[in-house]
Order: sequence, then structure tokens, then C-alpha cells
Amino acid sequence: MEQPKSSCRDPSVSRSPAERLLAIIPELSLARDLASVTGIVRRVARELTGADGATFVLRDGEHCYYADEDAIAPLWKGKRFPMKACISGWVMQTRKPAVIEDIYQDDRIPREAYRSTFVRSLAMVPIRQEHPIGAIGAYWAQSHRPAAEELVLLQMLADCTSTALANVALYRELQAKVVALQRSNYELSQFAWVASHDLAEPLRMVRCSAEMLHASLPCELAQKNAQLLSFIADGAERLQNLVASLLAHARLDCQYSPTEIDTREVLRIVSQTLRFAISESKAEIFADDLPRVWADPAQMVILFQNLLSNALKFRDAGRRLRIDVQAMPGDGCVLFTVKDNGIGIEPQYQEGIFDYFQRLHPQDRYPGAGLGLSTCRKIVELHGGHIWVESEPGVGSSFSFSLGHQPAHAAQPATEA
Ligand code: ADP
Repeated sequence: MEQPKSSCRDPSVSRSPAERLLAIIPELSLARDLASVTGIVRRVARELTGADGATFVLRDGEHCYYADEDAIAPLWKGKRFPMKACISGWVMQTRKPAVIEDIYQDDRIPREAYRSTFVRSLAMVPIRQEHPIGAIGAYWAQSHRPAAEELVLLQMLADCTSTALANVALYRELQAKVVALQRSNYELSQFAWVASHDLAEPLRMVRCSAEMLHASLPCELAQKNAQLLSFIADGAERLQNLVASLLAHARLDCQYSPTEIDTREVLRIVSQTLRFAISESKAEIFADDLPRVWADPAQMVILFQNLLSNALKFRDAGRRLRIDVQAMPGDGCVLFTVKDNGIGIEPQYQEGIFDYFQRLHPQDRYPGAGLGLSTCRKIVELHGGHIWVESEPGVGSSFSFSLGHQPAHAAQPATEA
């Protein structure tokens, strides 16, 4: 038999074994996969007991799988033994620890499997008291009987390991669910995109046909049916707008490419697009010296455009519209506010307006699809931020949202199926 090379006890470590066990609990609780757990446990099992080797064994049906080890010479890493033919199987089946001072004097030991190793003494404890799922072994090259305190520490390590393994399983399950959810979200937005895209063409035909019919009818007939024909054309136009909004909304997930952008430029583009509505309403727009942020440029245009066009639309006829666009540093982000002195929103509706198709006014007064603010919320959340409104009826509304300066890892695109 090969002679042991050295013992693993590190004299420079001055902390007590109990302190060392306490110190690895946070490390274990952060482990997200089996390899990290086994890596920590095999090292700590040796440290706590001063053993010359440690193994991490997992139950695999009716076999014991020696998943990992840390030892002065090779043991059984990667091998499987029948439960009935090895000490780890005995520990798991009886749910009791095993302490063996001389392995050649104990019938539970398959001597053949030990003959090529350095092992003379061992201690082994089950992982999980109820229905054990594995075991941790500590091995000595010289005859050794671990103190009761060492055994208690080893069992405590096994109990922490059991919790860590349960966390790993939960985390794996959670990740599988996140992937499934991302896929289903992606498929849903693809579906919405295709459906709204395919609706656009027949709607265009309905609208054009109604207009052509109106133009081609003899004057008397055209007058008689004018109202009916305009209902058809208006209805088709509204549906076209709705389909366009749905298309834009469905595309958001697939078209998220953040980069560093200048929000002054975003405001300039939006003001240019809305120039007729701005001049018609005689609105005054004031803007801070807006900062650079990490965001998708096209989505920022949609976000600012929705907020500004709402401010223009829901203005109070009794006073000149004033819109203030402000930016303030927040906690690791920038807080933007688009504030108007328009009609305002009753407190009980302020949360609901960010949901799909939530509108507070009849179409003929304030036309719209009811998708503007839900699109804003989706954009802000894709960027890892929040959006909310503060408003007082008859005084005005203030829409605020947060955006990061830096790439938002939480907001990375969910574009992959
Ligand atoms: P839309 O503008 O198409 O109706 P939105 O989702 O953009 O849909 O807005 C939802 C509702 O929130 C609006 O119908 C309106 O009642 C209210 N709202 C949005 N912005 C403002 C605002 N600046 N001032 C007052 N009400 C607003």
C-alpha cells in the first residue's frame, strides 16, 4: 500500500473547527450547482476533522456514487458501488453515522475496494436524516478514532449540505421555469406580431373600399349612405391604429439593442415628429439638460413620444399647455419626469392606466388605442426601471420613470426562444 504523503491539517489556520463551519455556511448557501457544493464540502470535511481524505457520495438508485473527493491519494472518485456492498450504503440505509477505527476488522467494509488505498480509519455521516440522499466520508491513513465533537461537526456539515443541495435543485427548477417562460413570452409576442401584421392588409382594403364606394356612388345615394360609409371608414381607421400599436408593442421584445444614447437627441426627434400637434396646441416645452443613458434608442423615442403626445392630447382647454421634461440622478439610475398642466387623472385610476386598453375617456373626445402607457411600462421594465404617475385632476400629471447609466444586467434582452 502506498504511504501517505502528508496530513491536510493546516497549522496556520487559527479558527476553531466550529468557527470554520459557520464561516462556510454563506458560501454553501450561495452555491448554485452540484459541483460548487461538492467542491466546498470535500475541502471543509477534511479541514473540520483533520482527515487525510474526504469523499462526497450521492445515492444513485440502488448504488452509491462517489461524486467527488479530496485526499492525499486517489480514492474512488467517479465509481459506483451497490448500496449493500459499501459503508456509505450502510450509512444511508440505517441513517446512522459510522466510525471505524480499523477498516480491516469491520465486516461492513468491502476490503478489496480499500486495499489499494491509504485508508486505515474512517468516519461517515448521512446527508439528510430523513431519506438520506448521500453521505460524507472522512479517512485517515493512521489508526484514528474521531472525537465525538468531530463527528458532530461532520454531521452538521452534512446537514448544511442537505440544505445546499435542496437549494441547487430549487434553483435548477427555477431556471428551467424562467427559460420556459421566456420561450412562451417570445412565442406570444411572435404570435401577436404575426396576427396584427396579417390583420393590417384586410383592414386597409376595407377602408379603401369604403372610401372608393363613397366616391363612386351617385350624389344622392352617396349622401343617403354617407353616415354608414363614414362609420365603416372610421371603424377601419381605428382598427388600423390599434393594429399598428399592437405591432409596435409586440416588436419590443425582439428589438432591444441598448447602447449609450443622448436623451437630448431623443427629445429633439420626438419634438420634430410632434411639431404640428405642438404648434396647434401652442404648447410650451421646457427641458433640463438631459443626460446620456444606457438604453435602446428606438424604444426611447417611442417612450418619450407616448408621454409627450399624451400630454398634448389630455391638455386643459382653459390654460396654455406647459410640458416640463426633467432628469435627476437617482440611486444608480436617472429619474426622468414628463410633467404637464393638463386635465389630470383621478387617484383611483392612476395605477390602472398602465394596463392594456385602459382608457378613461370616450373615443370621440380623446381618441386612442389605450396601449400607449402599457407600451411605456414594457419599455421601462425591459430596461430594468419603473414607471409611475403622480397627478391631480384639474392641475396636471407628472409621469416619472427610472433608467440606468450602465448596462442593466437584469434588463438583458429576452429575445432568445
Ligand atoms: P391612450 O392615450 O391611447 O388613451 P394610454 O395608454 O396612452 O392610451 O393612456 C391611458 C389613459 O391614461 C388615457 O386614456 C388617459 O385617460 C390617461 N392619461 C394618459 N396620459 C395622460 C395625461 N398626460 N393626462 C391625463 N390623462 C392621461
